[in-house]
This record gives sequence, structure tokens and C-alpha cells, in this order.
Amino acid sequence: MSDEAADAVYDVVIIGSGPAGCTAAIYNSRAFLKTHVVAGFEAGGQLMLTSDVENFPGYPDGVTGPEMMADLRKQAERFGATFEDGDATEVDFTSRPFTVKTDTATHRAKTVIVATGSSAKWLGLESEKRLMGRGISACATCDGFFFKDKHVVVVGGGDTAMEESLFLTKYASKVTILHRRDAFRASKIMQSRVLGHKKIEVVWNSEVIELLGAERVEAVRVASHPQGNPMDHIKDTADAAASGGKVYGLACDGLFVAIGHRPNTDLFRGQLHLDEAGYIMPEGAHQTRTNIPGIFVAGDVFDHRYRQAITAAGTGCKAAMDAERWLDEHEEGDK
Ligand code: NAP
Repeated sequence: MSDEAADAVYDVVIIGSGPAGCTAAIYNSRAFLKTHVVAGFEAGGQLMLTSDVENFPGYPDGVTGPEMMADLRKQAERFGATFEDGDATEVDFTSRPFTVKTDTATHRAKTVIVATGSSAKWLGLESEKRLMGRGISACATCDGFFFKDKHVVVVGGGDTAMEESLFLTKYASKVTILHRRDAFRASKIMQSRVLGHKKIEVVWNSEVIELLGAERVEAVRVASHPQGNPMDHIKDTADAAASGGKVYGLACDGLFVAIGHRPNTDLFRGQLHLDEAGYIMPEGAHQTRTNIPGIFVAGDVFDHRYRQAITAAGTGCKAAMDAERWLDEHEEGDK
């Protein structure tokens, strides 16, 4: 990072480079605003974990997630937006210009768009990392189509797991829900739809402890336990037997992990208003404004309902337009 870049006051600094951040960067740079994107070490966001994207308008033959993110970035760079592949480490939104620090630079910005997204929670298994993108998904809407007439396993017991399972029945021949307890936490109506569905089998008190398969998911190793036994202790057959449970292999073609999402908002705690789950709460009638004038929000970091690339891109566009208008109003007020 040159001294000149470090000293610049940007019109807009965008934190995050998924579809929301990149779309905001396209709009703002195309409006001749000096735009910088702190792209994150996991630049590109959740789409970098997706294989084929077939539901983003404009790609009749589909596109891989990483290709689409590279295209979006190139499009923003074409209009002059600059990108930095590192995480924002600290922000100060208490005075203007705002400050966004990374490991290598301190940026000053007239406006900031927060587009840090959310991350799916994963099981945390080594085998899960090894097979990521090859039969494992956290989004049935994105990947369900690839499991036509297949057997898929869904992990989780909340509304997301119910919704994902019901959606998957459109494609899969069988859906097995593995839940770690003997009761779902999902809403009653969602539960009743799942429990009454002829394609869905529910296996209670069970946890996936390993994913099996050389190139793709072929099976999962399941630890089941008697009701009330803590699962954490069951990691192998001996543990299972000792606690009255068992470990067995369950053949399947795919695994959908539906145990919730975590918004990437730790950095903003104490400055931006967050809801109970940690998502940024937009302020007032403007969907992309936050409690701090000049700070805007886009994408999954506030939208936990839709969580699609196209909806994130849509809010990225809105945030960019709102930031531009805010700059116009503010700079006019300064004259
Ligand atoms: P959630 O309600 O927090 O449920 C997460 C589920 O995953 C729980 O059943 C939990 O088990 C299980 N789980 C968590 N960590 C696990 C692990 N490491 N291994 C195995 N299982 C694990 O999350 P969510 O389902 O994503 O829902 C989030 C919020 O969005 C909720 O308020 C929900 O109502 C809402 N939502 C609503 C709709 C809808 O209305 N259509 C759709 C989706 C989401 P335990 O039960 O044992 O804790």
C-alpha cells in the first residue's frame, strides 16, 4: 500500500467483497466516487464455497461461484474501484471522516458500506473441510438441484433445517434429517410439514462425526446416543458403546449443514445497532441506513431472510445509491 493510498480520503470504503460489496463498488465507482474495497482474506464471500451457480440472472449456462466473483470484481475495477485482499481489523465510526484499519493501512472515508456477510456454521470436522464443495452445502436453494433422485442428509433441528429439507424433497429421492436431540426447536408448523412428509426420515439423538468419500461425499459416520447423553463424548465406537449408543455409516450423496448462520459483525459491536442474533439493524425508512449517518449496510450482514447472491447484489446497489445521495446532501450542506 503506497503512502498516497494510505493518506487518501475515499468517498466510499466498502468492507466485504461478496455480491453486495462488489455491486456497491460497481455503482459507486461508475458514479465517479473514489471507491475502495477492503475485500477480506476470504475475498468473494460465501460464493467462493459454492460450485455451480445456476440461478443468478444473466448466466444461461451457469457459472461457478469463484468465476462469478472474479467477474464482479473485474467489473468494479474497470470503473476505478480499488481492492485490498485483507480484513478490516478496526473501525472508528465516531467521527468523520470515518476510519477503517487493515493490517497494512489506515483508510479514511466519507461514507462506509458494511457488506461483511454472514458465515454458515459448519460442523467443524476435518473431513468436512476436505470435502467442502464436493457434496457438502449450507444452501439447498443454491445446490439442491444437483441432488436429483439422490439421498441427502440434513443436519439441524431449527427452521432452517426444516425449510432446507422440504425444499430438497423437490429433487432428492430421500432426505434424512439427523438431529442431535430428541426434539426440534423449529416452529410447530414447519415441524408438522416435515414430520408428515413421505420422503423425509428423522433420526433423533444423532450427530455426524465424520464424512466419508475420496472425491465426494459418499457416506457419513453417525454417532447415535441414548436420550440425554451428551454427544460431545461420542467420537468412536468404543465411546458410543460405553454410553449405550452406537456408531454406524450411513450412505448418502450429499450433506446439507443447516445449523444456523453467524453474521460477521464482531468488528462493529458497540458502534452499530445489532439485533439479538448479531445482525445489523437498518434504521428508519431507508433500508440501507444504519444508526450512524454515513454508514450503510448491504447483503447478508443484515438480511437473514433471503441470503441469495441476487438479493445481496440488490441491496449492494441500494446502499451505493443511498451513499451517493448522502454524499450529495452532505457536501451541499458543507458549501
Ligand atoms: P437455529 O434456530 O439456531 O437452529 C439451529 C439448529 O441446529 C438447532 O436445532 C441446533 O440444535 C442445531 N445445531 C447447532 N449447532 C449444531 C452442531 N454443532 N451440531 C449439530 N446440530 C447443531 O438456527 P436456524 O434454523 O438457522 O434459524 C435461525 C433463525 O431464523 C430462527 O429464529 C428461525 O426461526 C429463523 N428462520 C425462520 C424461517 C421461517 O420462518 N421460514 C426459516 C429459517 C430460519 P439444538 O436444537 O439442539 O440447539
